[in-house]
Amino acid sequence: MKVNVNESRCKECGLCIAHCPKEAIYLRSEVNSKGYRTVVVREDKCIGCGMCYLTCPDGVYQILA
Ligand code: SF4
Ligand code: SF4
Repeated sequence: MKVNVNESRCKECGLCIAHCPKEAIYLRSEVNSKGYRTVVVREDKCIGCGMCYLTCPDGVYQILA
C-alpha cells in the first residue's frame, strides 16, 4: 500500500483520476455518506508518485512511507 484513501472526503470530481500517470485510480459504484462515488487505488499499478495527493482538493489521499 503506497497511498491511503479517506473515502468519506471524496466528492467524485475526477481530478486525481485525470492526473494519475499510471491510470491506477478508478471510481467504485458504492457511494459514501455524502452520496458521492469514491475512488479506489489499484495497488498493482500505483507507483507512489503523489500526484493524487497533490491534485485532490479535498485531502482524500495520504502518501505512506
Ligand atoms: S500515487 Fe501516483 S500512481 Fe499512485 S494512485 Fe496516486 S497518482 Fe496514481
Ligand atoms: S480528486 Fe479527491 S475528491 Fe476528486 S475524485 Fe479524486 S479523491 Fe475524490
